[in-house]
Amino acid sequence: MIRIGVLNLQGDVSEHLEITYKALSKINIDADVIKVKTASDVLKSDGLIISGGESMVIGKLIENNGLRTTIINQNIPIMGTCAGMVLLAAETDYYQPLLGLIDMKVIRNGFGRQKQSFEEEIQILGDNFKGIFIRAPYAEKVGKNVEVLAKLDDKIVAVKQGKYIATAFHPELTEDTKIHEYFIKEVLKCVE
Ligand code: GLN
Repeated sequence: MIRIGVLNLQGDVSEHLEITYKALSKINIDADVIKVKTASDVLKSDGLIISGGESMVIGKLIENNGLRTTIINQNIPIMGTCAGMVLLAAETDYYQPLLGLIDMKVIRNGFGRQKQSFEEEIQILGDNFKGIFIRAPYAEKVGKNVEVLAKLDDKIVAVKQGKYIATAFHPELTEDTKIHEYFIKEVLKCVE
């Protein structure tokens, strides 16, 4: 049985736990979903979700809890949403600790002040999706191995590089399990 971890340091962790359970039951997969706080929790995980929240805070807690190297070396699928996207990036416009797993430069709070929070229909995985953007980042530039999964107004808002997926919006705050289902299937591919 696979085990999906949700990094439990700061941010909207419970929403991810809930939608991951929902997605699993929708595609009829038996899995454990665990809260990840320590390196040994990371080692137990076949896939990891990094929630929205404050990327600066989550990044510092990752370092303080000694998780950075373990997460990087674990070589498992990771999905980051919003602050999680920032943390997966190689570079941001702020000075902050990052995991650097996706070759992209991310602009934090990239949608500006007037539009700090908004909802907008986007196209992803061949379908419509309600994108909930809350002080969301976007990717200003991506490396050649990065697949762009979605754009909004010419800004890159979802990407995939190998096992790593990042969305600038919050699928965990919708009722739509599509993106979590996609992530779970990526995890399954890696344990086969
Ligand atoms: N702007 C926040 C950050 O960069 C992310 C906001 C969010 O996750 N909703 O940390």
